[in-house]
Amino acid sequence: MTQAVPAPLRRAAEQLRRVAPTLHRAQTDFLADLIRIESYTGREGPAVERTLAEMEALGMRNVRTDSAGDALAEVGEGPFRLLYDAHLDENEVADERDWPNPPLQPTIREGRMYGLGASDCKGGVATIVYGAHLAARLGLAADCTITVQGSTLEEDAEGFAMRHLLETDGFPRPHAVLLAEATDLTLRRGHRGRCEIKVRVRGKPAHASTPELGENAILKTRPVLDALEAMTPHLPAHPVLGRGTQVVTMVESPRTPNTVPAWCELTLDRRLTPGETAESVLESVRRAVAGLDAHPYLPTQKVVSWTGRDLSGPAFFPGWLLDADDPLLEAGRLTCIALWGRAPRVDVWQFSTNGTYSAGVAGIPTLGFGPMEERYVHTPEDQVDLDKLLQGAMFYALFPLAYSIVRTSLPVM
Ligand SMILES: [Zn+2]
Repeated sequence: MTQAVPAPLRRAAEQLRRVAPTLHRAQTDFLADLIRIESYTGREGPAVERTLAEMEALGMRNVRTDSAGDALAEVGEGPFRLLYDAHLDENEVADERDWPNPPLQPTIREGRMYGLGASDCKGGVATIVYGAHLAARLGLAADCTITVQGSTLEEDAEGFAMRHLLETDGFPRPHAVLLAEATDLTLRRGHRGRCEIKVRVRGKPAHASTPELGENAILKTRPVLDALEAMTPHLPAHPVLGRGTQVVTMVESPRTPNTVPAWCELTLDRRLTPGETAESVLESVRRAVAGLDAHPYLPTQKVVSWTGRDLSGPAFFPGWLLDADDPLLEAGRLTCIALWGRAPRVDVWQFSTNGTYSAGVAGIPTLGFGPMEERYVHTPEDQVDLDKLLQGAMFYALFPLAYSIVRTSLPVM
């Protein structure tokens, strides 16, 4: 269903269609430069520097890094704070021989740019930087101050950098967050969460030649594994995001082949529905293995930023879902209709994003939109359609005005 587009938004969309193409070359060059820079998690320094240089060149305000080394800048002067986020770190190449083009060599073919991180998430960075710039240049920031964040550490510890920015660096809480991860120019309003759980089973060591003197921790995990598996059909389910899952992914024990093992540790990957907390998850596992001498805990994830900050924290990433009638979603829809004449698909992501912090922990309304396509994420075919890249920037340029229109026409509570 389409709806009427308010005249100011229609005029702004027309203006964007005229002006945006003049920046396409610069946006493409910026993305190519980002692809040339290897930026694995915790080693994003040079990619951050390159992003800061682009922000400077485009005349953004307050170009800086925070203490964890994210690239930040502002446009607009309004009281309403929008955070545009896309991450600069990228998934590591498993085997370069699987790649049709060298991963760090941006290659353009038939209107698409190929290269490592194109779809996750450097295309997103080029989208929000140019989107915010267009908003500033055409006076479309409306009543918003837009902070553009080229963030770090997302691949290993999504949300950790944003948590640090808000909770440690004292960045003012945004009213809304937009995530430029892959959505193929449609909208995403949430995803399941995830966490890691360790279950440690203790035994008693003895020489392997006299096993009767010990207590074998590996054998003791047998009923524990059964109890954990029996939890699966009873995990919380969600009408939109589906049922949570839980699977044993690792088994560890001492590397001593001639000793009865003193301990055995299981690792579980658990996918979460919104509302599950670290304590509720842990308690459900505790109940399941009660009486089996098994001890569940949430491990700490070691995370150090490229600036040397220790951001380690629990490996717990909550799920989230934006309300179907949230003004943020309405503004996203209206922006798409103003630009392309049709309402976009609204869905949820299969993977996890920085929204686990912004929405899942901090409760900030969060919406996903990006020009990249999910099917190329973390694959040797990593690529982004360059026309969509420009369309994506137009979305981010027009969004603040649409959001302002949607908010101000809402009944005052
Ligand atoms: Zn990503």
